Amino acid sequence: MHAPTAPSEAALGPPPRPARPLARHIALLAAMLLAPALGLGVMTAIDQTRRIREGLETAFFYAGRAAAVAVVKELETRVFLLGALAGARSLEGGEEDREGFRARSRAALEAFGGRILFLPGPEGASGPAEPDAPGLLQQMAEAALARGEPAFPLLPQPEGRVMPFVLVPVERPHARLGALGIPIDPAVLDAALRLPELPEGSALFLLGPGGEVIARSSEAVLPGLARWPEDQTPALRAALGMGLVPARLGAADLFIQAEPVERSGWTVVVAEPAAAFAARWRAPALRYLAGALAILAAGLLAAGWFARRLLAALPGRAEAARNPGAALRVAEFEAAESAIRAAQAALRREADRAAAVAAENSRLAREAENDRRLLRSVMESAPDPIFVKDRALRYVMVNEATARAMGRPAEAILGRRDADLLAPDFAERLAAQDRAVMAEGRPREFEDQLPPDREGRAIVFLTTKSPWRRADGRLAGVVGISRDVTRRREAEARLRAAEDAMRRLARADSLTVMSVGIAHELNQPLTASANYLGAALRWLDRAGGEGPAMAEARAAIAEAAAETQRAGAILRGLRDFIDRGEAGQSEVALAPLIAETVALLAAARGGEELPVALELPETPVLVRADRLQLQQVLVNLLRNAIEATEGQAERGLAVRLCVQGAQARLSVLDRGPGLAPEVRARLFEPFVSTSAQGMGMGLSICRTIVEAQGGRIAAEDRPGGGAAFVIQLPVAEERP
Ligand code: ADP
Repeated sequence: MHAPTAPSEAALGPPPRPARPLARHIALLAAMLLAPALGLGVMTAIDQTRRIREGLETAFFYAGRAAAVAVVKELETRVFLLGALAGARSLEGGEEDREGFRARSRAALEAFGGRILFLPGPEGASGPAEPDAPGLLQQMAEAALARGEPAFPLLPQPEGRVMPFVLVPVERPHARLGALGIPIDPAVLDAALRLPELPEGSALFLLGPGGEVIARSSEAVLPGLARWPEDQTPALRAALGMGLVPARLGAADLFIQAEPVERSGWTVVVAEPAAAFAARWRAPALRYLAGALAILAAGLLAAGWFARRLLAALPGRAEAARNPGAALRVAEFEAAESAIRAAQAALRREADRAAAVAAENSRLAREAENDRRLLRSVMESAPDPIFVKDRALRYVMVNEATARAMGRPAEAILGRRDADLLAPDFAERLAAQDRAVMAEGRPREFEDQLPPDREGRAIVFLTTKSPWRRADGRLAGVVGISRDVTRRREAEARLRAAEDAMRRLARADSLTVMSVGIAHELNQPLTASANYLGAALRWLDRAGGEGPAMAEARAAIAEAAAETQRAGAILRGLRDFIDRGEAGQSEVALAPLIAETVALLAAARGGEELPVALELPETPVLVRADRLQLQQVLVNLLRNAIEATEGQAERGLAVRLCVQGAQARLSVLDRGPGLAPEVRARLFEPFVSTSAQGMGMGLSICRTIVEAQGGRIAAEDRPGGGAAFVIQLPVAEERP
């Protein structure tokens, strides 16, 4: 019910908000009181419509009736006249008499607009048929004669119209002579239908028994209709009662009422288009409805006015008017209630939000705790010292390895600076590094040697320090990871020492090799020269030449021979000195020497795992040799093997030791490309090399050393690919 609310609000003006429910109740009351008025209006409108309809029905009925009576009057007049004429004697006579009848009757009936026809029956066959009577009419006349009653046939005309006839039988006591007929001008019937009683907008039709339209009052309704359609015959039949019946002819919606025309079998139909009929009742019905609504509106306005007065008269309102600070009590309660409800909802929302925030916070806290634990476990499982310092260079996080390296527990380190923990100059060096890393903002590596500990060990650390940034990118300090490189540095130092020694030896041995060569080459010419000098002296003695010159010559030759002998003795001494090589010789256990040399090489290569397989016998193998020189031979051979297999996944590096009879057999093996054919025959000669950087001295030195120890060295292809360098040395005899 929107309608009642709107006027009441309008009438009240904008009432104070909390008072609205009361106003609504009053409006509802007014609406309920006014509802009967509306209902009454509607009912009156409906009743009025019914009355209009009934009135129209009555009007139609009387119009139909009047029309039917008018038509019957026309028909009866003609029947009466023809009946009177039918008694004429001249109709019984011959053709001549009939001609006379015609002439007389014509003049009499001219007023009816038609010509009288005599249609002879079968019994009166003596006379000739009416010359221009249609055959159909003749048949109809015979039918009327057979029944002995007047008939009202309809003769079809061109253009679909029909011409109504009135036929009256001509009978005598013994014979049926024929029938008298007269046409009725349709215009006469049209005129009979134009009645003053006819309601405006409607029309009258005169229909034949087959629905033929005989006459009509006007062309205003259903113009040009020639025949009532067969499908609307039921409507026509229904309309023959008192009722107003709807019918549909083509596109036209109608209301019809029908009235039979006595004796003829014809029907009078009153028809009015449905639209015209609706217009007839709609206007008054709307008038009644409008009246009802007007009453309703007036009632509501009155109710609104009344409601306003009532509200103003309420005690709370009056009080509110007197004291603006105090609100209407009802309104107060309502306002308070709605405020409480709103506050409750807001509180609930707040609580939900707080719960969500708390859940998120605890999740974050859990994650943070997990992260911290993860970080700690990562730090603790690292064997290398890891530490974090803040911008003031205080330790904020250290792992166990750091604590171990610093020689104090983690709690004693955290929160302190290096200056609090280490010697001043060393601490200052570390702090300078930290500051440099923070200033440059990128990681750097530093190597530091810690001051020697109690056992005198000076640990060397290689430390990578990186700037530590928070999630927002701000610099927070330094992160460091150290690695104890003491052992690596020691190994490197040992190897450097070995290499130095090796270089010295290589130089010395190159001189040795050359000296031996020179000695060997000079020995022969010196020997030959001494022989020639001896022969020259003998020939001078045999010739026996005398004189001071001869004596001088002999003395000179003897002198030359003595000098040559001396030169030979010097060379021999030199060779003896080289060959002796006894100086550094001792008993050397080969297996430990091999293991140590491989470890030394590995350390020198940065501590990488050298894949050298050692095949050493259980029992010790001893030889007499210079230990250092032998080690250098091994280093040389291993280096060559490593270089030959550089970059290969499967290098097949191995050192094998065994004893064959009195010989120790030491092999250095690899799976490299093997021996190059162009150098294979001269491998151990000086300056033979296939490598661009190689001196080609290594193997030649090896041979000199090995042979000086009384051994032999050889190179061969390894079965299955690669090279094998084999050293044979006599096993040292057991000394008692
Ligand atoms: P350098 O190594 O300076 O060339 P070396 O006397 O040690 O001098 O070696 C001489 C040559 O012998 C090498 O250039 C190389 O052609 C060959 N050689 C040495 N060892 C091997 C090896 N294990 N496999 C293949 N060829 C080798």
